[in-house]
Order: sequence, then structure tokens, then C-alpha cells
Amino acid sequence: MPLKRPSRPSTLPILDQVRENIISCTLCPRLIQYCRGLGDTRRRMYRDQQYWAKPVPGFGDPNAHMLILGLAPGAHGANRTGRPFTGDDSGDFMYPVLYELGLASKPAAVSRTDGLRLRKLWISSVVRCAPPGDKPAPQEIRNCASHLAAELAALARVRVIVCLGKIAWDGYLAYLLGQGIIQRRSEFAFHHGAEYLLPNGIRLLGSYHPSRRNTNTGRLDRTMFTRVFVRALESLEETRASNRRRQTSAVRSSLRS
Ligand code: SF4
Repeated sequence: MPLKRPSRPSTLPILDQVRENIISCTLCPRLIQYCRGLGDTRRRMYRDQQYWAKPVPGFGDPNAHMLILGLAPGAHGANRTGRPFTGDDSGDFMYPVLYELGLASKPAAVSRTDGLRLRKLWISSVVRCAPPGDKPAPQEIRNCASHLAAELAALARVRVIVCLGKIAWDGYLAYLLGQGIIQRRSEFAFHHGAEYLLPNGIRLLGSYHPSRRNTNTGRLDRTMFTRVFVRALESLEETRASNRRRQTSAVRSSLRS
């Protein structure tokens, strides 16, 4: 009789709890009020739609090896659809690249019921409520840090984190400082294509945010953006190869003894 594989512990119930905590959070009155207000007034082209108009939880594969960390939901994108980078220009720029690299099942994200699936990837942000002018206050970023910490704790298989923009980068560095994983932010400078191997074994990569401001001005183009994700996938392969080498060498040593 074939041996039954031991089932892997699921991260799903914890992520479900994280999701519920995010959706019901009201710690930042200014942002909660702003998001609801957007849902009341609605942009003319979305008048026939019901806005999500509350904090937007992360989305993707619970067994993700890669995490994309953005800034915050778009006012008429994720705040309308309820899913990160869904229904706005940033998502229209990003998802075709993720699809091309096999990280997303479709090249477009239009609604949270469009059937889009991510493969070994989770997408999240440092602030879960759309901020006016895309500018969260420092205290609002700090308020939201516990949601990121809870999500990262639940996504134990993540090995590569791609931060989109400096605010996301700084948000993740603040998490690392808080956990005692790094001692100083100054050792980890943000720029497009920045790459660091962190003491916790995570590879940290930086990219300019795929906002319309950056893509329309040519500060970020598709080739530049794709290169960051190609590098992220390469580094995952390197990690796997090095783990395999370590395992093989451990087995070899045990055979010798
Ligand atoms: S930004 Fe974060 S902490 Fe503030 S209300 Fe939204 S979910 Fe809560």
C-alpha cells in the first residue's frame, strides 16, 4: 500500500483571520472616512458600481514564495474593487508582466470576482486604506504595520519581497527593525533594482512604483519593471539550488559517519 504523504500545515485559517482583522479595522478615522466618502460620491464612469470602500486585504497564493508590497489601495482602483492593484492603471501595468512570467493566471485584473489567480505570489501593501493624494500620514503607516506583521507571520514560505516604491520599502524596513532583524535602515538604500540579502534569509528587491505618474513620465518602463521580477525569480531558483546542495551535503556526511 503506497505511503500517504504527510499533509502540509495550511496557512489559510491564519490568513483568513488576518483578512478579517484588516477589513474590520477602523484605527485611522481620516482614512476610513475618506474611503467611505469615495464610495458615496463615486467617479462618474463607475456610478453603476458599488465601491468596496473599506480596508483592502492582501491577495494571492497562501503558499507564496514571493511577496509584492505596494503603498496603498488606489482611490478608484482597489478601494472600488476590494483587491490590490485591481481596476486601476498601476494594475494594468503590473499584471501583464506577472502573467508573462507565470506569476498570474491572467494579464488583467478588473474585479475581485474575475477569476484571476496568483501562483506562488502574494500581493499586499503597507497601508490598507486609500489615502488622500496617495499620501498616508506617518502615524497611519505605523497603525497599519501590525497587519503587515501578521500577514508576514502567516506567509512563512516567502523568500523574496519586492517593494514597489520607497514608502513600501521603508515600511518593510520598519518591520525588520521592529523584529530586531536589522539594526539600521541606512544600510538598505532604496533605488530601482536595489537588492539585499537580509539576515533573515529573505531577498529584498526594490522597484519604482508602477503608478501612472511613473509610467507616463518614463521613470519606469515595462523592461525595467520586468527585470526586477526576472531577478526575483532567479533569486528564488538560487535559494532552492542552495537548499538542495545543503541537503545533499548533509546526507553525504551522514553516509560517511
Ligand atoms: S490604514 Fe490600516 S490601520 Fe488604518 S484603518 Fe486602514 S487598515 Fe486600519
